[in-house]
Amino acid sequence: MASFVTHLVCSSCDTKHEAGVEQHVCTSCGSPLLVEYDLDRMRDAVRREEVEEREPTMWRYRELLPLRDDRNRVSMGEGFTPLVRVDALAAELGLRNLWLKDDGQNPTGTFKARGASCGLSLAKELGIREVSMPSSGNAGGAWACYGALAGVQVHVTVPTSVPPLCRAEVLMHGADLVVAGDTLPESAAAAAKHVETDGWYDAATWREPYRLEGKRTFGLEIAEQLGWSLPDVIVYPTGGGLGVVAIYRAMSQLRELGWVSGDLPRMIAVQAEGCRPLVDALERGAEDTVTWPEARTIASGMRVPKSLGHALVLRTIRESGGTGVTVTDQEMLDAMVRTGSTTGIQPCPEGASTIAAIPKLRESGVIDPNERVVAVSTGSALRYQEAMAAATSRP
Ligand SMILES: *Cc1c(COP(=O)(O)O)cnc(C)c1O
Ligand SMILES: [Zn+2]
Repeated sequence: MASFVTHLVCSSCDTKHEAGVEQHVCTSCGSPLLVEYDLDRMRDAVRREEVEEREPTMWRYRELLPLRDDRNRVSMGEGFTPLVRVDALAAELGLRNLWLKDDGQNPTGTFKARGASCGLSLAKELGIREVSMPSSGNAGGAWACYGALAGVQVHVTVPTSVPPLCRAEVLMHGADLVVAGDTLPESAAAAAKHVETDGWYDAATWREPYRLEGKRTFGLEIAEQLGWSLPDVIVYPTGGGLGVVAIYRAMSQLRELGWVSGDLPRMIAVQAEGCRPLVDALERGAEDTVTWPEARTIASGMRVPKSLGHALVLRTIRESGGTGVTVTDQEMLDAMVRTGSTTGIQPCPEGASTIAAIPKLRESGVIDPNERVVAVSTGSALRYQEAMAAATSRP
């Protein structure tokens, strides 16, 4: 199967980069690269009705993914997770049309499986033997897991604050665990040194173009599951912000293909009160974030004080007409129980943060009660047993 990828393009200065060879960031300005597809050619080659007949994984969208040869696919059923209409929860939150995307049902229990499946498939296709990445927990676990399936050696550099479960998971999949630094930026610096001295393939977020491609399937699925239509609002728990860019990009590509029509959704980034660089930059009207000092939150996936892609994330939020909002850790814990008891879904603290944000977005008039809102639960509560215990402990 041929891919419809034409080239990679710099998200900042538009410089074109060749596809099919190892690429990381823009060679002229150092910004993240984005993958471009020949959508005109694709429009004639595949119809959405064909896609609907395929296997229920993210690879049902293979024409919209960058892999050239299906034999390099590294997959174990990730994606096409349920989009659940949650009427009882919606009524409590003062909305009429609310869906929760439950990505906790992925391998390793988080949506990081989407990025790992796509990223390691491409690494395999490019003949890469060893990859390296810093992680605050969930990405490292997912890459270790898919690395085992791919037969690629994965080195995961984590800060000392990483949850014990994530360390064990990396080791269980035979990956190399490097503990370095107390914060994610410190781990990232340590991992970057290995990339330079040991020649490991740099798979750090925003420095490896294909994770984002995998995460785009989030947006493709939401559109398909809404009967090939777009919601008005997407509420997303944001750390590095890859998902914000990925979902918005996927939906705009679907519109260009003619598979959906109408306005693109407003992207709402939810951040933790204790780590809110994007919300801060939105409030200041700044083009980029500054490193958030002493980042603190139980939601490890949102504990990202600064990321290479933040400028692009801010541009995307603004272009979509969206905004940012913060919630406290206690509000996340309360929302875990509220969601669990009204829907049966078990969201991680990050996922629950989207539910905690909705009453605030209603009160400030950002969301109208009649709008179609999709909240994204990026992972399962089962990965956060301490948070589950804290959320349910009675004084
Ligand atoms: C990584 C992660 C996030 C943040 O994802 P980005 O798209 O990088 O902002 C949110 N939730 C969970 C559970 C995560 O693991
Ligand atoms: Zn550039």
